[in-house]
Amino acid sequence: MESEWVTIGAFARASGLSQKALRLYDRLGVLVPARVDPVNGYRHYAPRQVERARLVARLRQLGMSLADVRRVCEAPGAEAAREVRDFWVRAEAESAARRDLAALLLDHLTPGGRIGPVGGPPRGPLGMRCAALSETGRVRESNQDAVYAGSRLLAVADGFGAGGAPAGAAAVEALMGLESAKALGDAADDPDRGGLDALRDSFALARRAVDEIARGDGTGGTGTTLTALLWTGSRLALAHVGDSRAYLLRDGGLFQITEDHTWVRLMVDAGRLTPPEAAAHPQRAALVRAFARDTESTPDTRLREVRPGDRYLLCSDGLSSVVAAERIRHVLATVTEPGRAVGRLVELADGLGAPDNVSCAVADLTPLQAA
Ligand code: MN
Repeated sequence: MESEWVTIGAFARASGLSQKALRLYDRLGVLVPARVDPVNGYRHYAPRQVERARLVARLRQLGMSLADVRRVCEAPGAEAAREVRDFWVRAEAESAARRDLAALLLDHLTPGGRIGPVGGPPRGPLGMRCAALSETGRVRESNQDAVYAGSRLLAVADGFGAGGAPAGAAAVEALMGLESAKALGDAADDPDRGGLDALRDSFALARRAVDEIARGDGTGGTGTTLTALLWTGSRLALAHVGDSRAYLLRDGGLFQITEDHTWVRLMVDAGRLTPPEAAAHPQRAALVRAFARDTESTPDTRLREVRPGDRYLLCSDGLSSVVAAERIRHVLATVTEPGRAVGRLVELADGLGAPDNVSCAVADLTPLQAA
């Protein structure tokens, strides 16, 4: 039997919760007073309840519903931690979905397709200005990455296995036909749709070219990732397989616009790994989609709206898993010339030991000079 009861006022001060909140938590069974006076109905708390009250306050601060808070409070130790982690994974997923929706709304609501305040410079035709760089790094003996930046195409491939270098190179080469204006010509009434179709067709060609090379590898371990952006003249077509990445720098913020087709990413989505656990996981490079034997290879494809000033980055995991996103963002936001930006990014990976081949391509969407 507890001897020292504290009043609701004293308990509120000790726990940082308001009396009103304490009465609510009592009614909902989240935090029930140790004793309620049978005569006057006054609530009394035991000093040992302060710890739980502080936990409740923190979980509320995190944005948890009272139902979730109650579940965490009643769960045994490790189970409680799992509840909090699952909550946070859900919250991050919801936040990512809301971010995409907000970007979409911004696009739709920007008057007359103009950027910034109405009355700014009119939006003229845009062109792509880009640069690419690939280096072996400090640990690997050869470079199995392939990267390309041209007048309308941007591509990166990260080859693996005995035939990794030719596989990556063949995948990028299979996209080269897209550099000609004719590639989009068949669907002249809708060059965006035509561009996306042409990019999909080229990914199918790339898959066949890689299969051909992989057949010569007795171990069956040869394959590649492939991520590409194609400028249609008004939009960007995106196709992606594997764990190379595409990012967009817009208004100073960096957004990853591809999903890693990795096993650890699926585990994070399922709430079974946290993002930091995934980043340190020994199987973090295991791909669930790639151009490789017995592996699903359907690309994610999408048409993206662009805005003047948008900057795109394609990179292999030799950059994204070595250099922190904030440092990548800083380089992209401050180094104006694409050629210097890719040089600086590769340098950063090099400074961190460059354990893998590192490749990147940067493209700016800039207004074309008036003729
Ligand atoms: Mn790699």
